Amino acid sequence: MMNRCIFSGFPLDPADHFRADATWISARLAHDSSRFLLYGRGRPLMDISEGLRPAYRSTAEVQDITGGHWDQLDWTFIGLDGDAAIFAIVLNQKLELSGHEKFIDLRSIAVQVSAEGFSAIPSLLGRGKMLLDWNGRRHFCSCCGHKTRTENGGYVRKCTNEACAAEHFPRTDPVVIMLVLQGDKCLLGRGVGWPEGNYSALAGFMEPGETIEEATRREVLEEAGVTVGEVTYIKSQPWPFPSSLMIGVQAKALTTDITTDTKELEDARWFDKAELRQIFETGGDDTFRIPPEIAIARHLLEEWLQEG
Ligand SMILES: [Zn+2]
Repeated sequence: MMNRCIFSGFPLDPADHFRADATWISARLAHDSSRFLLYGRGRPLMDISEGLRPAYRSTAEVQDITGGHWDQLDWTFIGLDGDAAIFAIVLNQKLELSGHEKFIDLRSIAVQVSAEGFSAIPSLLGRGKMLLDWNGRRHFCSCCGHKTRTENGGYVRKCTNEACAAEHFPRTDPVVIMLVLQGDKCLLGRGVGWPEGNYSALAGFMEPGETIEEATRREVLEEAGVTVGEVTYIKSQPWPFPSSLMIGVQAKALTTDITTDTKELEDARWFDKAELRQIFETGGDDTFRIPPEIAIARHLLEEWLQEG
């Protein structure tokens, strides 16, 4: 069975049948059972007393801090935990923090919690971050320049200019990341400016109108000069920096000569499966650092190494 990537495994009921109802959302924003994830400068507020957990605030506490002026704040409904509504909100006001609370950047949270196995916490926090980032960048309509207001619990922004009334939806930017294979060898590259020894799967943003297969073939040809045939989907990973979806594939190489695009890659090489197995067993070194646990590239490599 394949391991789940960190930032996947959303643990709540997204309740999309409720969140379009503004009356329901208003009632939840005022309800005692609701809880708020707090974000300051994009970093979630965490309770560090026992492992890492979100330091939720109650409705009353958030009302106290903000005055409850919801139309002036960036917030979003995240989902239902049983009957309790969970919201995420940006708070840049000075907050009274207890000694065991801290704003921590999401990448560090993901590294720390994934060291103890799979956890759904990064998925929860990642969704909040993606929606809040998007809301924060869409205060004005990209069609007419008028102000927008939040709707559907933070999943839509509607233009307040009645003549325009455009609706804007959260965006996800798909990235293809590919393990290019040729028999018992795989192609890995090192980006320009990466530390010595850091190799990973090639990757790139998809372009409008492309299929996953077409994007994979274009990227590998552009970056490494290798022609790719069959492309097989393996797994995907939400990547909230700021709003990507990593689409992990295996790609069969039809050619082996490498011509690197030096604007993108400092180096690209074929690595032997037996050699990589050895490196993974010993934990890597300065000549080859294994991609971190939170990266889908690590999963693609490990799962290929486990194949026959
Ligand atoms: Zn507009």
